[in-house]
Amino acid sequence: MSSGTTHMFVGAGAVGLAAIVDDHPHPITHSLLIAPLLGSISGKLPDYIEPALHPNHRQFFHSITVAGLLTIGLIKCYQWKPEEPFEKLIRGLVLLGGMGYLSHLICDSTTPKGLPLVGKL
Ligand SMILES: [Zn+2]
Repeated sequence: MSSGTTHMFVGAGAVGLAAIVDDHPHPITHSLLIAPLLGSISGKLPDYIEPALHPNHRQFFHSITVAGLLTIGLIKCYQWKPEEPFEKLIRGLVLLGGMGYLSHLICDSTTPKGLPLVGKL
C-alpha cells in the first residue's frame, strides 16, 4: 500500500510531467512552488475523500470509473486552447489537480487490492 507521503511525492512528480508536456503553458503550470504543492495535495485527495480506515475503503472515488472519466476530462482540458487569462488559469489548475488525483489512483491500482470497477458512493 502506498503511504500518504508516497502519494504526495508522486502527485508532485505527476504535475511536473504535466508541465513538461503542456504545449499551451500558463505560469501556474510552470510554477516551481504552486505546481508541486497542488500536485501533492491533489495526489492525496482520494484518501481525504475516502480515508484508509479499513482495507475496503476504496470505493467510487478510488474506482476505475473515476480514473477513466478523469482521463477523458484531462484529455479534453489538455486540448482546450483558452485565450483569456482566467480561462488559462482554470485550465492549469484542472490539469495540475487532475494529474495529481490520477497519480493516486494509478499508485493504488498497483497494490494487491487494486481499484473497484465502480465502488459504492
Ligand atoms: Zn488511496
